[in-house]
Amino acid sequence: MRIAIVGGGISGLVTAYRLRQALGASADLLLIDERDRLGGILRTTDLDGDPVDLGAEAFVGRRPEIPELMRELGIADQLVYPAAKRPLVWSGGKAHRLPEQTLMGIPAGPESVAGLVDEETLARVAEEPSRPLAWERGSDIAVGALVADRFGEQVVRRSVDPLLGGVYAGTADSIGVRAALPTLAAALDRGAGSLTEAVRAALPPPSGTPVFGGIRDGYQVLLDALRAAADVKVETGTAATRLARTATGWLVDPVGAVDAVVLATPAPVTAALLREVAPAASEIAAGIRLASSAVVAMTLPKQTELPDNSGILVATGEPLRAKAFTLSSRKWPHLAARDVALVRASFGRFGDDSLLDLPDADLVRAAMEDLTVMTGADIRPLTAVVQRWRDGLPQYAPGHTHLIAELRSATADLDGLALAGSYLGGVGVPACAASGTAAAARIIERLP
Ligand SMILES: Cc1cc2nc3c(=O)[nH]c(=O)nc-3n(C[C@H](O)[C@H](O)[C@H](O)COP(=O)(O)OP(=O)(O)OC[C@H]3O[C@@H](n4cnc5c(N)ncnc54)[C@H](O)[C@@H]3O)c2cc1C
Repeated sequence: MRIAIVGGGISGLVTAYRLRQALGASADLLLIDERDRLGGILRTTDLDGDPVDLGAEAFVGRRPEIPELMRELGIADQLVYPAAKRPLVWSGGKAHRLPEQTLMGIPAGPESVAGLVDEETLARVAEEPSRPLAWERGSDIAVGALVADRFGEQVVRRSVDPLLGGVYAGTADSIGVRAALPTLAAALDRGAGSLTEAVRAALPPPSGTPVFGGIRDGYQVLLDALRAAADVKVETGTAATRLARTATGWLVDPVGAVDAVVLATPAPVTAALLREVAPAASEIAAGIRLASSAVVAMTLPKQTELPDNSGILVATGEPLRAKAFTLSSRKWPHLAARDVALVRASFGRFGDDSLLDLPDADLVRAAMEDLTVMTGADIRPLTAVVQRWRDGLPQYAPGHTHLIAELRSATADLDGLALAGSYLGGVGVPACAASGTAAAARIIERLP
């Protein structure tokens, strides 16, 4: 049994690990990645002698996938949780508390956004439950359009955009309600009389579990553990260029004939590889658009006067270039123990790649200047590193959930082929891991 896994990000690595668990030592597993390293958007580097993540740096701790994987792999001692600090929102040239009691920034009532939006908007939020809501069951719409209509534009730009920008590098205009906020869509489908009522119904119940988790020495620890446990033959620097069927299985160029294949690649690559074998699915995947982003990780002298918050998110329309700062040494107790302060600046929103093309030095300067404006501190990086993620985040546009269901049915009868990746069931690392587990299960189910 020879199985190829194309794409060595978290989705592909989890697929390989689950296949090994199910098939035992005899299966011949081959993992190929066009980059010279595994991990995809998970990348841990060394900054002043300590590990720092330049892609994802956390995961949703209320989902089980990553803590479970860490326990299975014997690295649960690496599991860390952030300090109980909240980010700020930078809007109208000053810092505000991040609204509480919101669903991705959509308020459950006017008190959530008091101070962040003007009086007129507050009155509109307060009156919203009394305005009739027209929602067609099963329909979808951009989050921005829904929230602007019910609560006004300020709520979108100051409360919702900063949160969606963090997850998708998108804005409320590029992300659909059904995929990004499934519990809200469900509450609307059930007939909620207003957006306020739907948000209140969809808010997660209070929980003692921390919202986020992280890995003490960075995601590399998880990548290494997965690779070792998957016991997989790895070929980096190898791009899959074509996928075709054979009489008994599949042909993956340039690695040759295999019994089964998992495409754990970004949507555009998956689209290209499916063109010959599943043209309808290929067309759907090709229609998924992506956002690019860049991360500047900086170490600062430990005494730099940063606010005692986990980060600062930037509202849309502010005259700054960064969209968010993670004050990593404030957010994570294990990083606070280091001799330097660690900060990550994020740049890039869907549809605007202009900042991505700036030279590294300009991006670092932009991060320094923006952080100076927001904190008033003297920002003098000791070290800085820039990482660009071109087309790193798929946009879950309105209708995305429906498209993915169609894509799945267009590949349903292709035995020995499975898909995994961040465009399927969520962009977060836990969702990608779940997609890998599901892809492995599909391959195993259909084995002769
Ligand atoms: C800046 C940033 C910060 C983020 N922060 C978080 C966070 O804090 N928490 C969180 O949960 N999520 C976060 N995410 C999202 C999350 O990191 C990604 O969605 C996830 O890592 C994607 O994993 P993947 O394996 O599906 O795709 P990828 O990591 O993109 O892996 C796909 C792999 O396929 C390879 N490949 C492409 N084409 C070919 C080919 N033809 N042949 C062979 N290989 C190929 C690529 O080289 C790549 O390694 C963040 C994303 C970004 C961009």
